[in-house]
Amino acid sequence: MDKRPETLAAQALHRIDGETGAVIPPVHTATTYARGADNALIGAHDYLRPEGPTQAHAAAVLTALEGGADARLFASGLAAAMAVFATLPTGAHVVAQTKMYYGAKKLLQHLEARGALILTLFDPDDPDALARAVRPGETELVWIETPANPLWSLVDIARAADIAHGAGAILAVDGTCAPPCTTRALDLGADLVMHSATKYLNGHSDVLAGAVITRADDERWQALCAHHSLTGAVPGAFESWLLIRGLRTLFVRFERQSANAMQVAQALTGHPAVSQILYPGLPDHPGHAIAARQMTGGFGGLLSIRLKGGAEAAARLCARTQVFIQATSIGGVESLIEHRKPIEGPLSPTPDDLVRLSCGIEAADDLVGDLVEALGRG
Ligand SMILES: *Cc1c(COP(=O)(O)O)cnc(C)c1O
Repeated sequence: MDKRPETLAAQALHRIDGETGAVIPPVHTATTYARGADNALIGAHDYLRPEGPTQAHAAAVLTALEGGADARLFASGLAAAMAVFATLPTGAHVVAQTKMYYGAKKLLQHLEARGALILTLFDPDDPDALARAVRPGETELVWIETPANPLWSLVDIARAADIAHGAGAILAVDGTCAPPCTTRALDLGADLVMHSATKYLNGHSDVLAGAVITRADDERWQALCAHHSLTGAVPGAFESWLLIRGLRTLFVRFERQSANAMQVAQALTGHPAVSQILYPGLPDHPGHAIAARQMTGGFGGLLSIRLKGGAEAAARLCARTQVFIQATSIGGVESLIEHRKPIEGPLSPTPDDLVRLSCGIEAADDLVGDLVEALGRG
């Protein structure tokens, strides 16, 4: 029977431990695996750096949820992104966004400064900019992030795939902010999906991990797997086990986070202290039509608000909330608030009056009440 993704996630692929009947997988902490008298491996694994059983189980859940051919786990989201960049030919032309997760952009610029690649950035809010940025026959990789942290610009994945493939490039999607419960980028034509599993996938702010999932087990994927094994930026067994546990509730967490963010966005609409609300779920968001097409399981828990009182008002709001915790990161069950510009630095395109909100699974009334109360104090 073909099971729905919700079922696959909740049961972590319905794997029952063969030895004990346990319905929950064990944590395999072993770094090495025994061989028999004939020197053949007893199981499927030999050493932990390429992959252990707990890591492989988490990767299998992600492969199933993304509808891919294979996946590898990494020690962080950026280690996963680095694996994609590292498998490009030296000096490759790469296209990415002006507005994207600032850490991944910094990594790309760092690699460009070292001569590893040539970078062209395009504005994700201009629907024609990507087609202008690719160089047919030369571009190797188009890297998009949608919705893009923290302005939540939307990029049409199917269209980006057509443009990338038309230029002879591959399309990789940073799917951190649109996990597979709402967007399956491989189905839309992407070649690779990368996640910071630190965020929604684990969802409890207690694991640092990343993943890359591939549509095809091809030569490029084998090169990425070789990089994975040779460089060893892999998560431990406990992190991988926690990720499996977190993934069981991904669908219900995301549904609740989406509902909470929508309530916050609607409650703050027209608030006298707020100049703009950036949430893909609002009909007046510039990317709403794309979001409605490609975020089929909800618009997520992430939104940003811009304040009429500028940077000082943004800093004040973050200091005053009593339910939202002032901290970086996104996608966890607890709501976080952050004045983003000072984190990203002066070169970032993020406006300094922007406050980023990551809505958790708390009572919506508490989240709305907290923001209204903190904003009301001026
Ligand atoms: C956090 C984040 C990353 C980096 O992930 P780490 O796990 O912190 O290395 C990459 N992309 C996006 C969109 C993120 O939010």
